[in-house]
Amino acid sequence: MRLVLLGPPGAGKGTQAARISAKYGIPHISTGDMFREILKRDDELARKVRRYVEAGDLVPDEIVVEIVKERIHRPDCGRGFILDGFPRTIPQAEALDEILEADGTPISAALYLWVTEDTAVMRLSRRRVCESCQAVYHLDFNPPRSPGVCDRCGGKLVQREDDREEVVRHRIRVYREQTEPLLGYYREKGVLREIDGNKSIEQVWEDVQRVLDPLAECGDC
Ligand code: ADP
Ligand code: AMP
Repeated sequence: MRLVLLGPPGAGKGTQAARISAKYGIPHISTGDMFREILKRDDELARKVRRYVEAGDLVPDEIVVEIVKERIHRPDCGRGFILDGFPRTIPQAEALDEILEADGTPISAALYLWVTEDTAVMRLSRRRVCESCQAVYHLDFNPPRSPGVCDRCGGKLVQREDDREEVVRHRIRVYREQTEPLLGYYREKGVLREIDGNKSIEQVWEDVQRVLDPLAECGDC
């Protein structure tokens, strides 16, 4: 299965993508996680993307597309992948289609997790992430077993710089202006599947599986 996850910041894409990856055996590719790893380095690429990520702006398309192209051609993507946070602009979606068409492997589905702005802000303001393995927690809805410590790897949990409220509001604006048009793009292609992301993590996961189980059974999808 080759999947795209759409939705505003805080919709729960990373949370559901981790479950999808584990259940269906396809790699979770988060461009946001990839950029946060790049920012730990001190090379030219890190210097190029830092100001965009810190301000909550989109990294230029040509940089993102190159990184994703290299990633989805790695051997672990042979049975598919789930893209989380990519594409985020129409040119990125067109570039992705071009790459996949050349490979003869089109997108199976674009899952759109929709949430209200209040839900998104409330989730992001109390999100914590592991600085080592990038696992995602929420202080109220998905707390770690020991405060401040990652259940999975024992790493330290931190608040993302771009989860400060003023940056969050800006990221949601950027989403509306640059990413929301992708809903029409995928709807027209007949692959858009909408899921109410305002429900609990478990309820959303039930709905996601209801959409994906039939696709997973179809060999060509
Ligand atoms: P995204 O990847 O779309 O930005 P995340 O998966 O990181 O979103 O989720 C944002 C925050 O909301 C995290 O703190 C996560 O634990 C929490 N969260 C995710 N899904 C839900 C949900 N359905 N209900 C409540 N909290 C959620
Ligand atoms: P995310 O973790 O998905 O919220 O992404 C964090 C940040 O990484 C975004 O605010 C952007 O600066 C950058 N980023 C992630 N994915 C993309 C993308 N597809 N296009 C442009 N910038 C991106």
